[in-house]
Amino acid sequence: MISVQGLYKQFGDIEVLKGIDITVEKGKVVVIIGPSGSGKTTFLRCLNVLETPTKGKISIANRQLDFSKPVTKREIHEFRRLTGMVFQSYNLFPHMTALENVMEGPVTVKREKKEHAREKAMELLAKVGLRDKAHHYPFQLSGGQQQRVGIARALAMEPEVMLFDEPTSALDPELVGEVLKVMKSLANEGMTMIVVTHEMRFAKEVADEVIFMDGGVIVERGTPDQLLVAPQNERTKRFLQLIR
Ligand code: ADP
Repeated sequence: MISVQGLYKQFGDIEVLKGIDITVEKGKVVVIIGPSGSGKTTFLRCLNVLETPTKGKISIANRQLDFSKPVTKREIHEFRRLTGMVFQSYNLFPHMTALENVMEGPVTVKREKKEHAREKAMELLAKVGLRDKAHHYPFQLSGGQQQRVGIARALAMEPEVMLFDEPTSALDPELVGEVLKVMKSLANEGMTMIVVTHEMRFAKEVADEVIFMDGGVIVERGTPDQLLVAPQNERTKRFLQLIR
């Protein structure tokens, strides 16, 4: 489903990604962990082409972008639709209800009929446990509820892959569980997911593979048991000790 080869990203003089290679099979869940500043967010933003990589190739669902050649805006636009992104801050439109937030992409970007988009959005809100909040505005919702609307909004575009960038780290502790539960059920339904998170329990229970990034490279990867319980690399060991 996803294949990344030799991905580099430079901001000015700073090389933030220094040759990332990964493949992710359809339906698998990959959790990325690593210290602050190691390039995790930049990597997700490259997959979503919110950042343009300096070089490298990204394939998602049989479509490829090769950044050693010029890439057109149209190609980027089409490629971006393959992934749905959920951010740390939910970024909902404040003047729109939950339902309108979820309908927005399908109606304006995909030009779906409003009725159809509304029906689908209601189904998605039900899926994230928010059918009864459809007509609430973001300010009337808790952080956990807003984040679940954020997930429904990303799903409304019917992406091949879901990318989550620390989706629970802005939440009060008691609201984290409800968001992780929605993510877990998505994983169980077979969604291909890449998740940057510090939630080690989620990684243990849901990830097929855990990747440890540091200094813009993948230092170590493995099953949750391999990487979280018996890490081989000294940097991985040190990081895990620090967060425990
Ligand atoms: P992480 O998600 O692992 O905390 P990031 O991908 O956010 O790491 O950041 C990696 C490095 O890239 C940091 O040193 C950060 O300051 C730098 N960086 C990220 N975005 C930009 C940008 N737009 N311009 C310049 N430097 C950036």
